[in-house]
Amino acid sequence: MKPLSHPRRVPFMVYADADGNIFEDERYEAVGRSGYDVYPLVPEDFIELPTGSDLFTLPGRRPYGLNLETGEFDVREDVQAVAALNAPAYTQLYMAAFGTEEEGAPTLPLFCYTVVGWLDGKFYTTAVRIDPDERQDLENFDRELIIEETKKRLEHHPENRLIQHLGNNCSIRYCCPAARNFFMGRWECPIPVSPACNSNCLGCISFQPEEHELTSPQDRLTFIPTVDEIVEFTVPHLESAERPIVSFGQGCEGEPLLVWQLMRDAIIAIRKKTSRGIINLNTNGSKPKAVEELMKAGLNSIRVSTNSARKSIYEAYYLPNNYAFEDIRESARIVRQYGGWASINYFTFPGMTDQEEEYQALRDWIRFSDLSMIQWRNFNIDPDWYLGKLGITELKPGMGVRQMMVKIKQEFPHLAYGYFNPPGEVQVKYNTIRLELGK
Ligand code: SF4
Repeated sequence: MKPLSHPRRVPFMVYADADGNIFEDERYEAVGRSGYDVYPLVPEDFIELPTGSDLFTLPGRRPYGLNLETGEFDVREDVQAVAALNAPAYTQLYMAAFGTEEEGAPTLPLFCYTVVGWLDGKFYTTAVRIDPDERQDLENFDRELIIEETKKRLEHHPENRLIQHLGNNCSIRYCCPAARNFFMGRWECPIPVSPACNSNCLGCISFQPEEHELTSPQDRLTFIPTVDEIVEFTVPHLESAERPIVSFGQGCEGEPLLVWQLMRDAIIAIRKKTSRGIINLNTNGSKPKAVEELMKAGLNSIRVSTNSARKSIYEAYYLPNNYAFEDIRESARIVRQYGGWASINYFTFPGMTDQEEEYQALRDWIRFSDLSMIQWRNFNIDPDWYLGKLGITELKPGMGVRQMMVKIKQEFPHLAYGYFNPPGEVQVKYNTIRLELGK
């Protein structure tokens, strides 16, 4: 895969008219936002906009630009701001910079809003490819073929509620890449199992309370599957797929640890039939004891989601029921104690993630849990709504997301970086690096 190139100079600012038509303004350079501040950028901050990315006009928001004549930051009050939602596997370095928010401007939906600029006939964005894995590259998704393969499988399994959910809902309705890959018989396959959750994330993608005036991008699963329903499709997938992974904990459900006994029994049943591939759990990590039982049953890896390595920031966002931040660190540590692979699904927010305090807290978590991997995921949330909900009215300048990635890697060279749960061969590669480094 050829890396996307940097522009020869900083791209021009782009904006949208009232009808959503997008234009460049060559009087201004594109600028970036981190926390509450606006920053000038350099060509190395940009790459061509990856295939599979989307562009959004931001209602009621005005774009910032660097005035090439005065060298000052200006807000164009007469047009709308524009942002990019980068394709999966690309981590944002700066958010889109927009000034005045019109009175009554709607809260932005649960997407990520990254810088976009224009130069030499192309759109550019501020991001880095953090994971070479192609499992969600748009080029690999032939819509018609996927629908055909999905319908074929649905006909073969009319009684399996979970396959019916993954087919009709996830693959065909939501175009979920994980469900589509399952029906194409490759890579990572999803296993949603839980209709309920013991967190109340402000930006939950499967349930949003009325008062949030936000819509959750997915509906939550409404039933708890059986062991047989799970085994019926996961065993064939593990036995036949390329780089096979099956993962509990998906965007269309609550928290899988609330039904850990079901997962335990399913893992035992799966491993009775096949030892191939990875059985992974995406989770909020709230129940370390349950995680230990799952490791004993044969779980291979865990991915704990978090918006921060700091207790106060985490709990202000997750609003946990009957668990605390310490539990999620403990869950990751237990997986490592059993020789498993432990990742964090790290919601990356320029200006929050790269704060000195966050950096120190992350170092401490890596050491405490002996983490295997950081998945630097873009935080899909309206930045002002998020900071407002956390009561954060001002922020010191961050060190820069890229700078933080470099510093962490220098101190923990065995730590893997990515965007997706790694297949067995990638885990082996990093475990070898660990051994060579005597970690
Ligand atoms: S842990 Fe997941 S399902 Fe639960 S509230 Fe948070 S985002 Fe929603």
